[in-house]
Amino acid sequence: MALLDKFAAAGAIRDQLSSGGHDPTRVVIDEIISPTEGMVEGRHTILAGTNNYLGLTFDPACIAAGIKALETQGTGTTGSRMANGSFASHAALEQELAGFYNVPYGMVFSTGYAANLGTLVALLKPGDAVLLDADAHASLYDGCQMSGADIFRFRHNDVDSLEKRLQRLGERARDCLVVTEGLYSVLGDCAPLNEIVELKKRYGALLLVDEAHSLGVYGDRGCGVAEAQGVMHDVDFFVGTFSKSLGAMGGFCVSSHAELALIRYVSRPFIFTASPSPSIIASTHEALRQLQARPELRDSLWRNARRLHQGLETMGFDIGPEVSPVVAVRLGRKEVALPFWNRLLENGVYTNLMAPPASPDQNSYIRCSVSAAHTEQQVEKILEMFGRTRETA
Ligand code: PMP
Repeated sequence: MALLDKFAAAGAIRDQLSSGGHDPTRVVIDEIISPTEGMVEGRHTILAGTNNYLGLTFDPACIAAGIKALETQGTGTTGSRMANGSFASHAALEQELAGFYNVPYGMVFSTGYAANLGTLVALLKPGDAVLLDADAHASLYDGCQMSGADIFRFRHNDVDSLEKRLQRLGERARDCLVVTEGLYSVLGDCAPLNEIVELKKRYGALLLVDEAHSLGVYGDRGCGVAEAQGVMHDVDFFVGTFSKSLGAMGGFCVSSHAELALIRYVSRPFIFTASPSPSIIASTHEALRQLQARPELRDSLWRNARRLHQGLETMGFDIGPEVSPVVAVRLGRKEVALPFWNRLLENGVYTNLMAPPASPDQNSYIRCSVSAAHTEQQVEKILEMFGRTRETA
């Protein structure tokens, strides 16, 4: 069957990834013990690659809110909001999110991926210009691509490169959309949003920022990198996900532009998919409350982030200069990184392997993300295992 021949390439990737013992794309956590621990193949394992930044997946109040919604509103919505109607809890969460970002309009989507697709296909049409950071997440790229707009990529976090593209656009710059993230999820570096805002104002462009990894992590109130850099009012559209610091699943867009409320009429990734189930909305809503009420979670997260960064740096690992809850250890070739990742797993530490084409350059990385829920001992153990793995690699 010729149609199926193309899977030979996927088979080759699988064979290569499995060659080190475990396939990093198919790890099964047999038992989840806590936000930071699980059982993998009978081994107690520290989870150091979960994006569970605030550790809220096991928060009693979030669990109670989810259970209550399950009992009172059922297991699912069984359809899209356009066809089946919204539950009051969807609308309430939209309002809460908008209020959190201090803007009037908010929309909830079924995933973070759908939030990016759904917002971008509504904002852009063929003939429009979009300037996209070269390392932007696949969902941002896919949304731009799906819209049919002309995509111009600027070098990652490089404002000179962005300005050159804006200049080249001439008159079109006034109508274009700049798309970036807050905290970048692979290397753990932040966008220079203050400089990007300065440019977007000068050229009259609009700006969309994906704070998927920065919500709950950056800023005095936990809104993200734009808040930390004092430019929240200048961001036109914030998108984000419920699947990281909020510990659930779903996505959102909030904006001061009234047009956001109209996206629901034209956005296929919003219209043609089931809305998030009530228990997910309820636990997310509670997590958003916890995020605001317990700034000490951010303090614990940053304490762990600083220690992991400093520990790996002292041990001589090649990591970026920026301290953040995402720490990427550069290991060069995939042939080095894959066995290293395997040994770490066998030593009881689960991390993420980022190899080309999923890494931003030709290098392979072991990516760790820390959580507020990691204990100091767990962070020390992660460091110890990095050291032991290097000795035996
Ligand atoms: N944006 C970014 C920057 C992400 O890293 C991700 C997920 N890793 C998404 C969007 C998609 O979010 P979700 O997994 O909730 O669909």
